[in-house]
Amino acid sequence: MEKAKNIMNANNLTRMVWALAALLMSIAIILVVTRQTSSSNRDVSECVSVVAVESGDTLSGLLLEQGLTHNDVNVIAKVLKSDADIATLRADRDRLEFVRAHDTAPVSKIVVVPSPWRQVELTCGADGVWNCKTVDIERDTRAVYRSGEILDGDSFYLAGQRAGVPAGILVDVYDLLAFEMDFERDVRAGQKFWVVYEENFSEGKKIDNGRVLAVSFEALRGEVQMYRFRKSDGTTGYYDAEGNGAIKSLKRTPINNAKVTSSFSKKRKHPVLGFTRAHKGVDFRASTGTPIPAAGAGRVVARSYNRGHGNYVKIRHNGSYETLYAHMSKFAKGVNVGTTVRQGQTIGYVGSTGISTGPHLHYEIIKDGVHVNPMTVKLPAISNLGKDDKKKFIEYRQKLDDGIEQLKKRPELYIQL
Ligand SMILES: [Zn+2]
Repeated sequence: MEKAKNIMNANNLTRMVWALAALLMSIAIILVVTRQTSSSNRDVSECVSVVAVESGDTLSGLLLEQGLTHNDVNVIAKVLKSDADIATLRADRDRLEFVRAHDTAPVSKIVVVPSPWRQVELTCGADGVWNCKTVDIERDTRAVYRSGEILDGDSFYLAGQRAGVPAGILVDVYDLLAFEMDFERDVRAGQKFWVVYEENFSEGKKIDNGRVLAVSFEALRGEVQMYRFRKSDGTTGYYDAEGNGAIKSLKRTPINNAKVTSSFSKKRKHPVLGFTRAHKGVDFRASTGTPIPAAGAGRVVARSYNRGHGNYVKIRHNGSYETLYAHMSKFAKGVNVGTTVRQGQTIGYVGSTGISTGPHLHYEIIKDGVHVNPMTVKLPAISNLGKDDKKKFIEYRQKLDDGIEQLKKRPELYIQL
């Protein structure tokens, strides 16, 4: 009988990639050929058992199961804490590997894998002492380009999925664009968008997605563009094409993807009261119990009930802005008058308390004591660039744009970071 031959060499893929060389600052387009390599250099006689940490597992329990002594368990726990800063194992995330010289030999090496990018190796020396070493896995990050178009009856999510943008990246993109766009009224069939984001690889295998590097959306009011950029002080943020801070101190729509059911207006017929009066906020439809995130960082100045608003929270933000959230079914734990909240922190849950026809969030922005339209008010940026950083940003952005132009023509390529 003919022996099956190893023809795995046919699997050696060669790929052309565009490389973003050296620092993020200088984009040079380099032709790189990558080849998949087999990387197993483990001793074949070794016996390895892999244990995925499940809920209820403890480090000591797992070690004892593998035949380690109580003394070993204590030493290993101590070394892991002091040398690798690992005190507890996380269910559904961490993985342990136990290495033995052969089937029945005692464990001579333990590998703790707390992330795809980090391995902690514990080895037992001849003297019985456990040594700990942390190995950082080399990461190969690529910037990939995806583009799409809104079709009739589409949502941005659907169009993004069709364009091949992963769900996690889409959520981040939505969060970013929500600072500049009203998804309810700014999205129309025919609008085009693109996203550049990171994909992380290890030894040619994709491990996870990274961050959004740039995004563009043809909104009704014009093209919205945002670029991620690292300032000279090491902090990163998103900026528009001119280098103005894109992350605003407040969000126009606190709840992602919630439909606007009633807009801000100076005059409207109240659905319950029947007479005409101003609607000082925007209503977002959402089901009871949906968490309501704070639109911006600030301090809670009211957490109360009144006939009209039902349960409501009011937050004072830095500067002259206040926001109000009404009709809550309940308040979030720990949110009281005087509590400091961060942007996105849950302050309460959607409900229909007060004068309301059904579960929704009624959201108001008050600027210097006057109610303003959350959808159109010009909001202050959290961080702007200084003169030097702005100059660097513009250079970086122009080079990245050049790279993106290439990717528009050849979307199957990527930028090597
Ligand atoms: Zn309302």
